[in-house]
Amino acid sequence: MPLRSVFRPVLLFAALAGLSPAVLAQSDAPPPPLELQVLGSGGPGAVGRAASSHVLRLDGVPRILVDAGPGAFARAGEAHVPLARVRTVLLTHLHADHAGDLPGLFKAAAVSGRGPIPLRIFGPDGRDPYPSTGRFVELLFGTGGAFAYLPDFSAPLALTTRELSPPESAVVTVLEEDGLRITAARGHHGDVPAVAYRIDYRGRSIVFSGDMDEAGLPALIALAQGADLLVFNSVVLDPPDSPAVLYTLHSPPAAIGRAAAEARVGRLLLAHIVPAVEDHAEAVLDSIRQHYQGTVELAHDLQRLTPSAP
Ligand SMILES: [Zn+2]
Repeated sequence: MPLRSVFRPVLLFAALAGLSPAVLAQSDAPPPPLELQVLGSGGPGAVGRAASSHVLRLDGVPRILVDAGPGAFARAGEAHVPLARVRTVLLTHLHADHAGDLPGLFKAAAVSGRGPIPLRIFGPDGRDPYPSTGRFVELLFGTGGAFAYLPDFSAPLALTTRELSPPESAVVTVLEEDGLRITAARGHHGDVPAVAYRIDYRGRSIVFSGDMDEAGLPALIALAQGADLLVFNSVVLDPPDSPAVLYTLHSPPAAIGRAAAEARVGRLLLAHIVPAVEDHAEAVLDSIRQHYQGTVELAHDLQRLTPSAP
């Protein structure tokens, strides 16, 4: 599947290019090869956490954004993330709590950069009523789109999209360059088109489940084999303590623990935390620990985590 060019960069409003460049924290120690920073550790409810979003630093430079839920824009500012350095956006699915902050983040990148900013956006294909990732980006930033002005507003944004539809239980390579390898497997979030991602860089690896019900676990286990860190979105309690319909969309703690054990991941981070999980955190963690012996914890906004090899 070739990358599809959606927009041609045109340099306009160069005077804005110098606005507010963010800076990296200075340190004498070399940066870790791969580092996760949680921008949003929450779910769809406005209850204090930003919604789902993560940034990955490669050799200290923020290069990859995984989901862009509401609140990620504010957290990226608080974390001094130089958004103009991001080159790749991985969308697990197109629910608003995972993609709603894309326009704000892209505009922030545009007004903080100087030259053209190439942004590759990967995400699922479409299935009614969900647009494909390409259509989604066109509806936002294409001709006639809601924010059609944005790609040429300041530093030009060169947006390309690629839709992913991995075969059932197969792991596909999405991107391979300069030591970075991104692979993907078919997600399963009810009938919502979804993708799970694995990022490998210089011997370190992180996997993102996205929102996933139990039907997606076999593919995720194949994708996550031996990964240093698995970020799993945790939304429900073990049955029957959550509304039945939610089990068609999300995996319960016992299933998450079994999947983490079967994939032999080094560490487990629970993300997309909702009040039910927060209020019963010990029960959730205990249930997971019945099956998985590694470190497991609940994510929090702005948390930084460096995966270490097992
Ligand atoms: Zn969600």
